[in-house]
Amino acid sequence: MLKELLDSGKCFKLVCGAGNEDALEVEKLVALYSAAGCKFFDLSAKPEIVDAAKRGLQGREGYLCVSVGIKGDPHIRKAQIDYEKCSGCHKCEEICPQKTIKHCKVLAARCIGCGRCFSVCKHGAISFREENLDLKEILLPLIEKGIDCIELHAMGENIEEALEKWNYINEIYSGILSICTARGHLSEEKMLELIKKMTENRKPCTTIVQADGFPMSGGKDDYKTTLQAVATAEIVQNAKLPVYIMLSGGTNSKTAELANMCGINYNGIAIGSFARKIVSKYIEREDFLRNKYVFDEAVNIAKTLIQSL
Ligand code: SF4
Ligand code: SF4
Repeated sequence: MLKELLDSGKCFKLVCGAGNEDALEVEKLVALYSAAGCKFFDLSAKPEIVDAAKRGLQGREGYLCVSVGIKGDPHIRKAQIDYEKCSGCHKCEEICPQKTIKHCKVLAARCIGCGRCFSVCKHGAISFREENLDLKEILLPLIEKGIDCIELHAMGENIEEALEKWNYINEIYSGILSICTARGHLSEEKMLELIKKMTENRKPCTTIVQADGFPMSGGKDDYKTTLQAVATAEIVQNAKLPVYIMLSGGTNSKTAELANMCGINYNGIAIGSFARKIVSKYIEREDFLRNKYVFDEAVNIAKTLIQSL
């Protein structure tokens, strides 16, 4: 059961990317990390992605969480390039962690909305678009298909929209829910106020609070990168709410060590950018799922990260 995994305090969650709609990559990531011992996976809320994750599990035990967002949440946006403004410098291509920009074109299915391309573009050629899909249309088929958790990314400034979507999810789903938020758009007080409002009518220990330090900032394996993830978890911990605490947003192999040093009683750690980066050269191989030697080498790397919890 997912609840038991969270109660153990050793829940490693692989974030495949809320916006990652590359089914083959998700299948490979889930196959690899589930073979390495991970049992919890964060996925884009699309039927084909849930199917890909189930294929990747290959019968192993695994809990699937689908992520939906509110307007303005970076996890659900997609980069796009204005060719009138683009100089063709390729800086965005070089920095994209998903390797999803080719010849100044964004392959939307793989874009996770991290914004690194936007930061390096000196010509203002990059902007973002968001799909505003109806939650009912997205979630009902997935609940029917079989999922273990729904996560609402509530990082925009529109608290009303976050609460409206949260209430709807509460109506249609009775399992474990997860709130993904951050201090970026909200002050510490506002972030806690939002979390308190979202959890006030929920039974104790049925909600995960995944408060991102710096969303999608992982990549480097040092203490500085993971400092905000630990600091944000401490804010949630100090509020003494009956919730599960999941560290995220800049997580890496140092996160557990730093959190333990700081006295954080976390239930789990969600790792996306860093977990994907350390195995990317294997995952990119066309023969990844067939080549046992390559697959096993990648599994050993993933195991080291999982065991850092
Ligand atoms: S960084 Fe900007 S100008 Fe350079 S290739 Fe990308 S979109 Fe074009
Ligand atoms: S850098 Fe980030 S936002 Fe830009 S295309 Fe790549 S994944 Fe998307």
